[in-house]
Amino acid sequence: MPFQEFKIDDLEQFPKELETLLASQLETIELLSKNDDVSYAGVIRPLKDLDEELGNFFTPLSHLNSVENSEATQKAYEASLPQLSKFSSTVAQNEELYAKLKKINANNAEEKRVLEHDVRDFVLSGAELSKEEKKELEEINLKLSELGNNFSQNLLDATNAFEMILEDESDVAEIPQSDLALAKTEVEGKTVYKFTLQIPSYLAYMTYGSNRARREEMSRAYSSRAPQNAEVIDQLLKLRQREAELLGFESFSAYSLATKDAPNTDEVTKFLEELGEKAQPQSKEELEELKAFALKTDGIESLQSFDVGYYSEKLKKEKFDFDDSMTKPYFEQSKVLSGMLEVVSELFAVEFRAVELTLWNEKVKPFDIYQNGALAGRIYFDLEARESKRGGAWMHNWETNFVDAKGEKHLPTVFIVCNFSPSTKENPSLLRHDDVVTLFHEMGHGIHHLFGRCNEYAVSGVNGVAWDVIEFPSQFLEAFAYEKPILKRFAFHHETAEPMSDELLNKIKDTKNYQAALGILRQVEFSLFDFNLHKKLYQGEEVQALLNGIRETTALLPVPEYNKFQNGFAHIFAGGYAAGYYSYKWAEVLSADAFYECLDEEQGFNQEKADGYLKYILNKGGSEDMSSLYKQWLGREPKVESLLKLYGIEA
Ligand SMILES: [Zn+2]
Repeated sequence: MPFQEFKIDDLEQFPKELETLLASQLETIELLSKNDDVSYAGVIRPLKDLDEELGNFFTPLSHLNSVENSEATQKAYEASLPQLSKFSSTVAQNEELYAKLKKINANNAEEKRVLEHDVRDFVLSGAELSKEEKKELEEINLKLSELGNNFSQNLLDATNAFEMILEDESDVAEIPQSDLALAKTEVEGKTVYKFTLQIPSYLAYMTYGSNRARREEMSRAYSSRAPQNAEVIDQLLKLRQREAELLGFESFSAYSLATKDAPNTDEVTKFLEELGEKAQPQSKEELEELKAFALKTDGIESLQSFDVGYYSEKLKKEKFDFDDSMTKPYFEQSKVLSGMLEVVSELFAVEFRAVELTLWNEKVKPFDIYQNGALAGRIYFDLEARESKRGGAWMHNWETNFVDAKGEKHLPTVFIVCNFSPSTKENPSLLRHDDVVTLFHEMGHGIHHLFGRCNEYAVSGVNGVAWDVIEFPSQFLEAFAYEKPILKRFAFHHETAEPMSDELLNKIKDTKNYQAALGILRQVEFSLFDFNLHKKLYQGEEVQALLNGIRETTALLPVPEYNKFQNGFAHIFAGGYAAGYYSYKWAEVLSADAFYECLDEEQGFNQEKADGYLKYILNKGGSEDMSSLYKQWLGREPKVESLLKLYGIEA
């Protein structure tokens, strides 16, 4: 049996079984920490086999909880999480194990990498600290997670506290039916429209709401939410700075880079500033065009930030006269999927063969992957939306390509999960072009894991890959989903089988780059604020001053005094993105640069270049720094200009 069978016998018993597994793993770890063996094969391999065993056991539950959620999966999942976090903190505090790790010698580069990561992670969890410092670190971590929760809670309360009731039909005349249906409600027997600060509702009014004063009202409410978070931010920043110092770093940004691919804090800031500068001239042009359009359309003399979404949408309609409904009939799900698999097969010389398996849902499509005629991996596509599935799209890796302590070879498996419109007996599932892009994106992550060819579990596939480059292979593949030769392979009308016209194919690409420079400037603003904010300790008014300084380059319209965007920036104050928001753009430089390297205008891709991408990037997984792999592949560094080119920006 080359692959794990996907099944959970008894959800109710799951937490109990997990407890037994973790207890037995702790015993093994204890033994491995105490015995005299200091060989890689005798200590590290068996330790990593435990990671694999735990991953194989737990992934089906976390997966099921996301794609076939029920009270039973939730219960099992919630009962498992505290056990896992207790387990990992017990292992991280195992001083004997840490002392032993430092004595082990690696026999090759892959093993060396695994050891480096392990020692690094021990150090980052405080292994080199005194007893008192360890205690302080532990308290900081507790406090940080509390503050993160407070931040989210304040934001949630503020979001829910606001509503805007519109009675006048003319105020909602341009809102699309589906959004309007959600806003429609009855108050004292009268039909009114309620808009809130929940993202879909907020965006619906900011994009299609014709009453300017109402847009300002929404915008003001949204950007001044949760003023009490200013105090939370101060506390968070103070504790993060202290945490970084305890662990021997100058700043939290420097600490964040300890596990990332970016070389140092100055490089990150320099990169973001350069990107902002290069996007600025075109951004100004995009904004001028918008201003002229708003003046012509409604006599708006002075365009404000709360007008941008509304007029942008109108201008887009006028320029392109294009929407999803025009391309949807050409993107039938099963055709898109088989077309994409065909592309991947040709590019990387593999074969996908559908297999019959009983899985968590009958809509799931599993394929075995063959390379040179030999079985090499498995992929499960679960593409359609249903009530029991969490929203969004993602790749989830399950098994990994590696060799275990007994010398046995394991094969990789991944899940690709999306939320496309469901197919029925009468109607096929038709995708928006955005959905096609999403599928390519997740497949890019999928093949990064599936085509990993390392022997060491901890650095094979996506394992051990730094966070700021993890989006490289996904964004790389995604870029092909806009290319004519690629789309032509599967874009046929689902009823008439007619191929998509060149006019439509062109529009797909043209609309992609609409206001692209403005979009980049916005990302640069978020990233620079996040990164620089963590480069030294900022408190109180200094936080706003830093943001204002950045906006001198990135904000082309005046930002109102009441706008306290930072109090709602949950990614960095309540999520895992602190001093890491730059990663999106950092990885995109690699993906754009690699894309132009591999692009062939006629074929869609250049076969020879794809071979190199497979060999130097995908096969190597996390076994070396991505920047170094990239250099080995092309003999040069990636160029920022490629990213601008991808967005149609001339620099
Ligand atoms: Zn991704």
